[in-house]
Amino acid sequence: MTHMTHTLLVAALVVAGPANAGHHGSAAGHHESVASSVGWTAAVTAQADAHPTFTVGTATAQRGQKAYGVMHVPAGSDAGYDIPVVVIHGARPGPVLAVVSGAHGTEYASILSVEALIDNPAAAPANLSGTLILVPLVNVPSFERLTPHVNPNDNKSMNSRYPGDPNGTQTDRASAVITWEVVEQCDHLIDLHGGDLDENLRPYSYWTVTGNAKQDEFSRGMVLAFGLDHIIISRERPKDPKASRFLENTASTRGKPSFTAEAGRSGPVDAGDVTMLSDGVLKVTGYLKMTRRPARDITPVAKPVWVEVTSIASEYNGVFFPRVPRDAHVAKGATIGLVKDALNRPIAEIKAPDAGIIMFIRALPSLKQGDTIASLGVITQEPK
Ligand SMILES: [Zn+2]
Repeated sequence: MTHMTHTLLVAALVVAGPANAGHHGSAAGHHESVASSVGWTAAVTAQADAHPTFTVGTATAQRGQKAYGVMHVPAGSDAGYDIPVVVIHGARPGPVLAVVSGAHGTEYASILSVEALIDNPAAAPANLSGTLILVPLVNVPSFERLTPHVNPNDNKSMNSRYPGDPNGTQTDRASAVITWEVVEQCDHLIDLHGGDLDENLRPYSYWTVTGNAKQDEFSRGMVLAFGLDHIIISRERPKDPKASRFLENTASTRGKPSFTAEAGRSGPVDAGDVTMLSDGVLKVTGYLKMTRRPARDITPVAKPVWVEVTSIASEYNGVFFPRVPRDAHVAKGATIGLVKDALNRPIAEIKAPDAGIIMFIRALPSLKQGDTIASLGVITQEPK
């Protein structure tokens, strides 16, 4: 799930910041010209290429090439590490789309979906107008040590500390690097997640309401193009870019239409979940006119199910027994799970606080006070 940024190199980052802004400084306003990008193509190509190369971390791609590299998170109060990154710099100019996953390193379907995009022919440089920044695995320590929800090195969620802090612990420093290298350089960002090791999740996207009508309309189009028909409306995300907290929100508060999507769940990776996410990204590249997609692939979701979510947290330590599957439609007051103690004595029956859809439910017996038991989606009107 989503809910849940050095010392020697600080100087290098500070120097890199303004340079990046200069090279890609037109990014923030780019979405406003996307709709007319076809008409502009001739004029753009007739001019000198504004971005003959594109660099993220150690990956520098020439126009029409793909480059592999890392974003180095410098050592600070704890160890540094490298975040892998691929830059696909399309044969023709266009929008810069960043696709990031693995903030939670055991949400495997989302990680594999971005890895699959690296070699998907539809996203090959020759077929691309614009640039893809692909970051499949932010939380390398979590992946290596099978740790759900957090970076085991500092016990922080890697989707909670944006825009990051170069003087903080590893998660804070990594978030700062991603803000500089990825968010500041892109026009749009998609953050991919999924059910973590303990979450039995049905697929859905989030649509963030920033209050900027034009930006929200554009991001709504991206979400509908992505193709998941259940969409959570996020109205309460921070508005301050200096305290953006989430990755998507770091891009959104910088004026870049962006969204988050989730698929995949506890247990072995389902290839359908992986494809659902990677295909969704390709559909968005069609919507952004970065690729020429078949018409059926850029048809937006016809009947989206808009929901507002309520998180049900455990008040108890105990053993959890789910009583409904993911995606169940439950009535208000319906029993969704039982909590027992380690000697099989009942502690509590968990009831749905409202009628709604089980967006995800705890998949494993382990339960402690404060853990999320379920996320309940309450169906709401289509937002205007
Ligand atoms: Zn997640």
